[in-house]
Amino acid sequence: MNDENRTYRDKPEAPQPLPLAVVDNHTHLDISRDGAPKPDVRRTIDEAVAVGVDRMVQVGCDLDGARFTERVIDEHPELLGAVALHPNEVPKLAEAGELDAAYVEIERIAQHSRVRAVGETGLDYFRTGPDGIAVQQSGFRWHIALAKKLGKALQIHDRDAHDDVMRILAEDGAPDVTVLHCFSGDVEMARECVERGYYVSVAGVVTFKNAGDLRDALAQVPLENLLVETDAPYLTPSPHRGATNAPALVPLTVRALAEVKNVDVSTLCAALSENSERVYGPW
Ligand SMILES: [Zn+2]
Repeated sequence: MNDENRTYRDKPEAPQPLPLAVVDNHTHLDISRDGAPKPDVRRTIDEAVAVGVDRMVQVGCDLDGARFTERVIDEHPELLGAVALHPNEVPKLAEAGELDAAYVEIERIAQHSRVRAVGETGLDYFRTGPDGIAVQQSGFRWHIALAKKLGKALQIHDRDAHDDVMRILAEDGAPDVTVLHCFSGDVEMARECVERGYYVSVAGVVTFKNAGDLRDALAQVPLENLLVETDAPYLTPSPHRGATNAPALVPLTVRALAEVKNVDVSTLCAALSENSERVYGPW
């Protein structure tokens, strides 16, 4: 009961609904924050739909998360799935001698008709030493190959690893549809992504006061290459930084992005929705 109260008290007020529905293309409904209870999936979806976020891509990026994803995408028509082993997960599994078995399971789940992306995979150099980096890179390559083999989109996590992410994608050949989740590159990287036909997914960070460089980079990206996401429960947009994020907060990110792109919110919503269906297929 205490947990229930705390969740309720910390919960940000619902934003003003969007004029046209959009997709949260990267959320983790299987993860809670700060010891809070896991989100109630149905209620989380309903609250998002109420503000115009009527479809979501649930991302399971460890074995438990992937199995959770496999289940909820069959239970809730608003959800499609993405599954992979996160770059911070791969070295742990390798060390335990469990990586090959985990790959077999991810490949099995990735074949589900409502799993439309392999992700999030990529590189995370934030907390990883040289040993972990080698394992992460081979894990990233494995996921790139899987996405191509299954004809699914690729969702990339890139933390402090821009050069290696772009290099490995070029060396191995990116899948037809490649999404940089929570894009954090600069103007030059944004231009390179557009040139290569990648999608740039924008998280709540675009609302942060100190994210001027990110806004400059996003200004370079045409509407046709943009997606939005929460990465819930993390990266909560302003003015709710520090609270638990949820797909219902996407409207705050969309409105900030509309200002960056200097377009009206309806125009942006229409583009985002169309792009999402092009990337993931129909719901
Ligand atoms: Zn994520």
